[in-house]
Amino acid sequence: MFIGIDDTDSERGLCTTYLAAVLMERLKPLGEIVGRPKLIRLNPCARYKTRGNAALSFRLESDRPDEVRELALKTLLELSDFSGMNTNPGLVIADEVTESMKAFYRRAVTEILEIAEARRLLDLEGIWYRGFKKGRGLIGALAATGAELPDFTYELIAYRERRRWGTSRKIDEESVWRADALTYPGTWDTVDHHNNRIVFAPHSGDPVLFGIRGSDPQAIMQAFRIIKSEPVERSVLYQTNQGTDAHILAGEIGSVRESQSYRLHGFVAEPARAIAKGHLFFPLQEGSALINCAAFEPTKNFRGVISQLKAGDELEVYGSMRDGCLNLEKINVLQLAEQVELSAPLCPSCGRRMESAGRGQGYRCRTCKTREQGRVQHVLPRNLEPGYYEVPPCARRHLSKPLIRISGDLAQSVHPAR
Ligand code: ATP
Repeated sequence: MFIGIDDTDSERGLCTTYLAAVLMERLKPLGEIVGRPKLIRLNPCARYKTRGNAALSFRLESDRPDEVRELALKTLLELSDFSGMNTNPGLVIADEVTESMKAFYRRAVTEILEIAEARRLLDLEGIWYRGFKKGRGLIGALAATGAELPDFTYELIAYRERRRWGTSRKIDEESVWRADALTYPGTWDTVDHHNNRIVFAPHSGDPVLFGIRGSDPQAIMQAFRIIKSEPVERSVLYQTNQGTDAHILAGEIGSVRESQSYRLHGFVAEPARAIAKGHLFFPLQEGSALINCAAFEPTKNFRGVISQLKAGDELEVYGSMRDGCLNLEKINVLQLAEQVELSAPLCPSCGRRMESAGRGQGYRCRTCKTREQGRVQHVLPRNLEPGYYEVPPCARRHLSKPLIRISGDLAQSVHPAR
């Protein structure tokens, strides 16, 4: 049985991953969980997301399907926050994962879908499902069930004791920095060195204590053992599409669509301009097509890279289209445009800078009386190297592939933010 859940929480509390964790435990007497549960992030531009647009799925081997469905439904009804304005739970239980379900996942991570599309496919495939209120969660629940992950990473989520929900989290920060020092790059985005903060714990009232992300389950477990905190009620190691760029489509500047995420090639048309609150914008051009790219204030030191770009620099940019603007997640500087400055020539005898000899009369050296005609060009040094640059961990999108995951020949040209 392939079980998918989504949209059970609200801004006020609870969390779909927590519901899944409790459900997996309750289902143990009825069957066996096969493989790792999946934490699936869907289109980050989806309008009704609470936070990170997560949905959950797991596989259960059971010969008591009726009881499984009944228990899943009961748990969903018990642990969903039905009072949330935008909470529209969805539960999907399929016998198999078909090609159409896989295709639905790929669309859900890159496009904006309608609830009716999910219902239509569920009916067509004869899949058991329950949607509550508007049933919008069926989109995520079906997509998570169909999620096939050609590339994946892991996240261990530790949950809080119920009596502590809504109180401030007790985490020994020093132990978190130590865990990072000992397990990076097997784990990442636990802390942000440049911005000097811990970034693996939410501040909301939900049951999540923290999440340790990484590509190596052993490194994640080592970090988990090192980190000291308030008691952990339960923890689950999920397989996830986080950190894989699953949302990124190869696109062209002239044909991008709103609420989709792209990798685009182009040339910087003008250096970046800052507007109020520290947001930076620059136009990127390919032929006659132009797009506005943004590095918003929360991207912090990434803006330092963006402000070094000059007209003519050749780039690949990665980001999401929001309100007609590409919100940058990372860039690949392919080629830096040469920046030249014109200045008076140096005297061939004494080496001192020559002076203008008058309008249209070239330059002369006052001491040696030598003369030269035109100004000379200097190539200005650039404060930027070609290669990949990314937003820092404190601004990372769940789905964005961190540069530390790029290996092979490209590894020489990456500048991972840490
Ligand atoms: P959390 O991260 O705390 O679980 P969330 O950010 O995942 O919260 P949800 O409560 O799951 O937010 O709400 C997201 C809603 O958007 C769900 O109903 C989900 O089915 C729907 N959704 C997900 N992807 C898409 C998509 N591509 N198009 C339209 N709706 C989507």
